Amino acid sequence: MMDSVSTVTKVWTREAAFGEKRSVWNSMKRGFLCRCPRCGEGKLFRTFLKTNDKCSVCDLDFTPHRADDLPAYLVIVIVGHIVVPAALMIETNYAPPVELQLAIYLPFTLFASLALLQPVKGAVVGMQWALRMHGFDENAIDGVPPV
Ligand SMILES: [Zn+2]
Repeated sequence: MMDSVSTVTKVWTREAAFGEKRSVWNSMKRGFLCRCPRCGEGKLFRTFLKTNDKCSVCDLDFTPHRADDLPAYLVIVIVGHIVVPAALMIETNYAPPVELQLAIYLPFTLFASLALLQPVKGAVVGMQWALRMHGFDENAIDGVPPV
């Protein structure tokens, strides 16, 4: 009977030492589409802003993400840079009644913010995964990654 001793030897490579390659832009794009940053298939979110515990396709653990308030700040910056210049330009050139302007800007701001919040949070989670931030570093010393 043959011994089933494994003869597989691990060859050290720079890539093996640093783990899988993670493209920041690809991961952010997948996150923006609310998909898993690693495989782009599994759903990232369980509810509107609550991430799943792990990817249903590739098993990536989503719990180490620390998006916190960053998505909200980014959404404010993005929507603010659309609404404020538009309002200034319209007021300067056309000066429509204030009621009409408010009837457009306020709902637009509300819906644009709500529409962007989930994709932007997905992009932030994708970025954190790609940059091995928080718990996304598989080579963390003692399993405690730098924050
Ligand atoms: Zn996945």
